Amino acid sequence: QATALKKYFETGSSFTGKSSVRAVDDVSLDIARGETFAIVGESGCGKSTMARLLMRLLSPTDGQVTFDGQDVSNLKGKELKALRRDMQFIFQDPFSSLNPRMAVGSLVGEPLETHFPEMSKQQRRTKVAELLGLVGLRAEHAERYPHEFSGGQRQRIGIARALASSPKLIIGDEPVSALDVSVQAQVINLLSDLRDDLGLTLIVIAHDLAVIRHMSDRVAVMYLGKIVEQGPVDTIFSQPRHPYTRALLSAIPVAEHGRDRDRITLDGDMPSPANPPSGCSFHTRCPFAQDKCKTDVPALRDTATVAGHTAACHFFDDIAAAHPDAVVADS
Ligand code: SF4
Ligand code: MG
Repeated sequence: QATALKKYFETGSSFTGKSSVRAVDDVSLDIARGETFAIVGESGCGKSTMARLLMRLLSPTDGQVTFDGQDVSNLKGKELKALRRDMQFIFQDPFSSLNPRMAVGSLVGEPLETHFPEMSKQQRRTKVAELLGLVGLRAEHAERYPHEFSGGQRQRIGIARALASSPKLIIGDEPVSALDVSVQAQVINLLSDLRDDLGLTLIVIAHDLAVIRHMSDRVAVMYLGKIVEQGPVDTIFSQPRHPYTRALLSAIPVAEHGRDRDRITLDGDMPSPANPPSGCSFHTRCPFAQDKCKTDVPALRDTATVAGHTAACHFFDDIAAAHPDAVVADS
């Protein structure tokens, strides 16, 4: 759970004058045990910073992160180490995150040594074989080196490494975006199966809604450090309310959502997070922007679709009425 989380980065020098980048600006999330929660947005929207805050790889400028009911915002030393065991990260590029000079057995065995120093060598070898089996690799693979594997297999090694500490929560930062499309689905299915079998909670960071559709329960869409829409993944696909979410959806091939929908194209690029627009920070690109949008910041509020679906737009009802987006049949 994250409450009113903020992360500002100071930039510039005392000579040029400091400014702060609001990478994550007042974000609250409540992620349930055992669910898969996706955070989606373009690069620079703050999603990776958000993931690092949740993992306590960064400490928040303001706000609180609680995990299993415990405030972990300011943990240090031993307690932080214990938390590290419960939360593991899967990286985007499995190749650069694996030491090329270490055999797979050592790569997967290393976190076992760190977190379970009492394990004997033999126990460790057995556990490594078991972890490789969990991710669909074979025990003999332990002798080989990362370069001998395909991208998908390397991501499996990364997942085995993450599982070594018996975590409760795994956060994947674009875990499949470096992989071929044909391999993406396999890794996504593997993560979903592991979640079910091991009772994990998964947080998946992605820039593309299509990737997370079949593996997530809920999704938060971020733009310039804020959540602009959040809800059950099926509702976000069938009844998106925020214009930015609609734009993300309209970038997905029609085959993915079963019918053609209003095409929304955005003006320009995402503004710099160092200098976000006033009011609704989306107003510089929003085709529906009105005067109010330039001055008033829209709060996340309930939509009339299903419980737990919220969007931050002054006019989502009017927009939904003018552009009725029929329900998308789930394929
Ligand atoms: Fe667009 Fe205004 Fe809604 Fe922001 S508040 S998304 S600018 S219509
Ligand atoms: Mg990123």
